Amino acid sequence: MLRTTIVGSLPKPSWLAKPEVLWAPWALQGAALDEGQRDAALVAIKEQEAAGLDIVTDGEQMRQHFVHGFLANLSGIDFANRKTIGIRADRYRAECPTVTGPIKRMRSVHKAGVAFAVQHTSRKFKFTLPGPMTIADTVADEHYGDRVKMAHALAEALNEEALELERCGVDTIQFDEPAFNVYLDDVREWGVAALERATAGLKCTTAVHICYGYGIKANNDWKESLGGEWRQYEKTFPHLAASKIDQVSLECMHSRVPASLMSLLKGKDVQVGVIDVASNTIETPQEVAAVLREAMKYVSPERILASTNCGMAPMPRSVAYAKLRAITAGAAIVRKELGVH
Ligand code: ZN
Repeated sequence: MLRTTIVGSLPKPSWLAKPEVLWAPWALQGAALDEGQRDAALVAIKEQEAAGLDIVTDGEQMRQHFVHGFLANLSGIDFANRKTIGIRADRYRAECPTVTGPIKRMRSVHKAGVAFAVQHTSRKFKFTLPGPMTIADTVADEHYGDRVKMAHALAEALNEEALELERCGVDTIQFDEPAFNVYLDDVREWGVAALERATAGLKCTTAVHICYGYGIKANNDWKESLGGEWRQYEKTFPHLAASKIDQVSLECMHSRVPASLMSLLKGKDVQVGVIDVASNTIETPQEVAAVLREAMKYVSPERILASTNCGMAPMPRSVAYAKLRAITAGAAIVRKELGVH
């Protein structure tokens, strides 16, 4: 009841990449980089354990970019040929690899790192992958000319990877789909189907994370333009409720999302974002508890997980770790009120 977790990423240590920079290049190379990534994953896991989280991640310490990290071992993707394109309906520009041929997974991308991470925790372990729609929105396509076709090819590659990671002992595989908050009609028409293709045959818990993005200026400006109530989830949640996905992660703390929209997720576990990743102010346990109590008006506590609004990669390290402790302290208050420990 009221289990605790994070969306996925944590800041990288300064010896691995420049702090507080999103998608910062690695500070190490070759074998030293492999070792540094594993050491950093170990720190991330142990910090989450020390904070008391029930479900931990590797903090995404082994990838530079949450989308492009998965593309490294796929054929049909040309990293040497990068193009700067507008993404998320042109909200901001990003340098993206080009799709130059049929997308196929040549070999495992994350298996070695995940096998290492799983061995180093006794807690439940969650691993995050980008969702097919979000990947399709974060590459420069020069081959398919059809976003749906490309997303399904990506979903097949993701599915092969996910099945392999499940065999490594992963308890939850989460697909990050920030694009689901942008292309609302596409979610209904093909987004959920592509996501289900990516999760086909998985027996572990499956999750989807849909947010309003990291706390960068382009996202903060976008949020300001969305009006007094953010109702994007209202369009997508009914389709997710009807899908095979087990769990949905959404943004709540300091967002203008009406909590009542969670009632559209009947039958699903809900990762309630109780931590604002766009602010360095540490939430108090009481603030976290208040968001959880609000969520409990619409979702039973058995189905609620206290989580973050989004990844914490660009935050100062000390802030991110303090926020982890706020999650567990806030959940503990509400558990106590419910008479469970
Ligand atoms: Zn996010």
